[in-house]
Amino acid sequence: MENLDILRNLVQSHPHIDSHAQNLLKKESIDEYLDKFLGHSTSKANGIALLKARTGFPFMRATRQLSELYGSPCADWPDAISAHSEFVNTDYEGLIRRSLVGTQALILDDLFDEYEETESFNLHDSFTASPTKRIVQIEALAESAILQVAKSERKPDESVWNNFRQRFLDAVSSAMEDPNVVGFKSVVCSRTGLGVDPYSSDDTTLAGSLVRTLDSGTTRSGFTVEDKPICDWIVQQTLKAISLGRYSGVGKPLQFDTGFGDDSTVLEGANPTNLQPLIDKYSNADMVLLHSAYPFTREAGCLASVHPNVYLSLGGPFPMISREGQEKIIRESLELTPTNRLLWSSDGRFHPETFWLANVQFRRALEMVLVDYVQHDDLGVRQAMDIAVNILFSNANQLYSLNLSPNIAPEARDEMMGNTSRT
Ligand SMILES: [Zn+2]
Repeated sequence: MENLDILRNLVQSHPHIDSHAQNLLKKESIDEYLDKFLGHSTSKANGIALLKARTGFPFMRATRQLSELYGSPCADWPDAISAHSEFVNTDYEGLIRRSLVGTQALILDDLFDEYEETESFNLHDSFTASPTKRIVQIEALAESAILQVAKSERKPDESVWNNFRQRFLDAVSSAMEDPNVVGFKSVVCSRTGLGVDPYSSDDTTLAGSLVRTLDSGTTRSGFTVEDKPICDWIVQQTLKAISLGRYSGVGKPLQFDTGFGDDSTVLEGANPTNLQPLIDKYSNADMVLLHSAYPFTREAGCLASVHPNVYLSLGGPFPMISREGQEKIIRESLELTPTNRLLWSSDGRFHPETFWLANVQFRRALEMVLVDYVQHDDLGVRQAMDIAVNILFSNANQLYSLNLSPNIAPEARDEMMGNTSRT
């Protein structure tokens, strides 16, 4: 039993790298986003569907669980809202600090960095031991390049396609060189699905796709990339740049949003097996399937077990599905996925509580599953501890080339790693 306590302690207290999350809100913007508080932590629904999510089990569980964070009982939604508002008003920094306990480093999408309502990347650094790193969303990069094309004066001998093409490739290349950017993310899943063609269309087809994209927006409203040839091209070019980077020793993976529960995603297109031709073609580029690829976790595990360039990130369903569902995801991911291919991410966004709920629920589910495997003699304690450290810290540290050491006080290190009791 003593060994199990060491395992439990390690799972609960070893620092983690949060490999996929988004910016926190500024204190003055919290009220504006109050209706999304907890709703968006526990559901990906929108509008009326989001209101109905309040009757869902994950929402009820999260409401009760927040009592631990706030230090005051939360029996229902009004209790949680009132405790949340009081904490924000009296000690927002303290709430962030408490919510990010155990988080050594954050890897944030760059999508919200320029929003007025959200905190800058640098602000997050003051709450973690190691600096915040960035992930560049490639569709946003393309949309920004298209906006520049639409605003620029057209030279008589220059094609619109070539103009866009060069701007996008330059933007990817400068992200490859930026030491604060540790990878890319694609939301192609919710645009045209994960069935990305590994081979590029011809220039005439791509130019037509760009024209349709330009026609569907304005310089005032902006442009959305959702035409298949151009969506596929953006992914292909990013993977080419990543593959080339690998040859010169730069490792930056491409994360794929797998569209968990998003109302704009066609579920059939979100199955990661759709990515197989692309994974084969760009075998030198590392790819991360976000959100546990839920509900296709086992399919994602199959891919990761045979393709050394595929990783599975376990964030997303924490705290969005029930406790049993979360444990099942960890069990299903361990069925086949090599344990050096599993990553943790909170998928936290805006409210500090989204980070806290995800981290607490994940560590509890991981502890439950690993302890169970040790009790059934499927794993030794030391093996289970290695798996926990890999998932929480080491795999992300290596994949995103962070070169961090776990931030554990020297006097706590032996106890946490179980070295004292093993001598
Ligand atoms: Zn996400």
